[in-house]
Amino acid sequence: MEVTGLAKRGDGRHAGFPGPVRAVVPSAAPPGPSRPSAERTAMTDVPGRILILIKPDAVKRRLIGEILRRIEAKGYDIIALDRLRATPELLAEHYAEHVDRPFYPSIVEYMTSGPLVAAIVEGHRVVEGLRSLIGATEPTTAVPGTIRGDLGRDWGTSAMENLVHGSDSPESAEREIAIWFPRFAR
Ligand code: UDP
Ligand code: MG
Repeated sequence: MEVTGLAKRGDGRHAGFPGPVRAVVPSAAPPGPSRPSAERTAMTDVPGRILILIKPDAVKRRLIGEILRRIEAKGYDIIALDRLRATPELLAEHYAEHVDRPFYPSIVEYMTSGPLVAAIVEGHRVVEGLRSLIGATEPTTAVPGTIRGDLGRDWGTSAMENLVHGSDSPESAEREIAIWFPRFAR
């Protein structure tokens, strides 16, 4: 029996369909200002990207899988993944806005204390989506439901050991992707 009214997997309308879903302009739509132009439709189809770091405290606590699971469960695509040890030189580039802050030497010590996992995650509005999923900088007060809120706490280092980094804007994301994944640079 054919069940009507339900979107079928693969037709582009199913909520869980993992492929690129394009904005569909019905062929019967009347021409006029309310109809999106081809240019506008093409622009909204381009997914965003973000650089994520699963920091050494999270790797030590064996939270790589749990953090990647949450990112995938929200529906984003992990398009590049690498486990590596950060160097002070790499971190100075990555944290260019923080190098003059008093806590910067502690950050370098923390971020070089063990391996970390770098990832590029892709999807529409992914920077907003993942900043929201990651939660506030302070793990103690980050809202429950977020990665930092559920999995993080103050271990005596205040806001430093907070499990994850996520780029704070699409521009930062492109700058950081070029640092950690040069072959993905645009
Ligand atoms: N950090 C810290 N003390 C602070 C603020 C930040 O140790 O008062 C650390 C923390 O690990 C944070 C990172 O520096 O994730 C970068 O700070 P930012 O303000 O960019 O926070 P985020 O964007 O990671 O939430
Ligand atoms: Mg930041």
